[in-house]
Amino acid sequence: MGKVLIIGAGGVGSVVAHKCAQDREMFSEISLASRTLEKCDRIAAEIEGDIRTASVDGDQPSEVEALIRKLGAELVINVASPYQNLPIMEACCRSGVHYVDTSLDDERDKIKYDYADQWAFHDRFKDAGLTGVLSIGFDPGVVNVYCAHAQKHLFDHIETVDIIDCNAGDHGYEFATNFDPETNIREILADVIAFEDGEFRTSKALKTKRQFDFPEIGPRDAYLMTHEEVLSLAKFIPGVKNVRFWMTFTEKYMTHLGVLENIGMTSIAPIIYEGREVVPLQFLKALLPDPASLGPRTKGKTCIGCMFEGTKNGEKKRVLIYNNCDHEVCYSEVRSQAVSYTTGVPAVLTARLILSGAWAVPGVYCPEQLDPDPFMNSIGRLGLPWNVKEA
Ligand code: NDP
Repeated sequence: MGKVLIIGAGGVGSVVAHKCAQDREMFSEISLASRTLEKCDRIAAEIEGDIRTASVDGDQPSEVEALIRKLGAELVINVASPYQNLPIMEACCRSGVHYVDTSLDDERDKIKYDYADQWAFHDRFKDAGLTGVLSIGFDPGVVNVYCAHAQKHLFDHIETVDIIDCNAGDHGYEFATNFDPETNIREILADVIAFEDGEFRTSKALKTKRQFDFPEIGPRDAYLMTHEEVLSLAKFIPGVKNVRFWMTFTEKYMTHLGVLENIGMTSIAPIIYEGREVVPLQFLKALLPDPASLGPRTKGKTCIGCMFEGTKNGEKKRVLIYNNCDHEVCYSEVRSQAVSYTTGVPAVLTARLILSGAWAVPGVYCPEQLDPDPFMNSIGRLGLPWNVKEA
């Protein structure tokens, strides 16, 4: 039994609130806070039973700390934007509560791509007997646990991990992003950092593509991209040589993104417009559909997984571990599309594992550093079953 505070009332926050509410035995009190109180109230109204709501600015550790103390929360699930990770971790340390998030922290005016600031909390969490689990959405998140599972049960040595992500869903809009547009567009257009032949290599965005056969979807072109799990997996999978992240995009998406980039609308450098400072990407975000609104319109499936190459008992081996998720099935369960669903469900399971003791390891960890068994044994029942295919 535990009191949980969810911060961030977007698409993922909504899934987290719905899923926590399905397990009142574990989550005895659920609170949902965001900058905009109405967003929290709207989500709470969809859910049976009591959910407390509050307004909080996650950029301000003292505000978050005061809220945690007022509610008597024992664990924070942070699903606001990546800019709030460090202030919310600080607030958790100060008030003595566990911490879970779904993305790597970032800064508004530059792309950071480094876990150092979040890992720097390790000793403070450890000394206080608190657990922090970082980036436990689907990718990063579940895919990191797939790696720990493959390392523990399927391979003696993993040489290559290719994380493959296909969203074959259709929302009917000309152009929209499935999660926070600012985070999504920034990561797609960032220079690509991949771990190849034992070192990090940088290349231009959207220049390297490869075809993968996605179960239940079929063959699709996927582009090599920068993604946070590459950083931690390269560090924590012993002796791994290659860690790469690949994502599919439709031609329509690529055409729109190309035009927006060419005319400067994806820039994070502020410009002055009629005497006011405007960040083009933030203005674009205000124009695009709210990811939380895509749920009722999206049809089709996602397929996300890890393709492993390595050895077992001296034999070469190739294995795919993956999940398929159906947008409409997700919507009928929690009123959200599959991208929010596949992100929110692992965060809720992680909160359960911390509160129940299975993952209550003091310190700050990426998911692959923890024992994969309790997670892999439960994630299917919570809505994200996994499959193993020898290739
Ligand atoms: P949204 O943009 O839909 O929601 C984020 C919410 O955070 C917003 O609704 C916003 O609401 C709130 N927020 C923003 N700034 C603050 C602040 N300073 N204080 C309090 N609340 C704030 O994003 P998603 O729900 O799609 O994504 C949530 C997180 O999940 C992001 O960090 C994203 O990067 C991550 N993610 C991870 C994935 C994975 O697989 N690992 C995949 C998809 C997303 P308000 O109006 O109240 O400010």
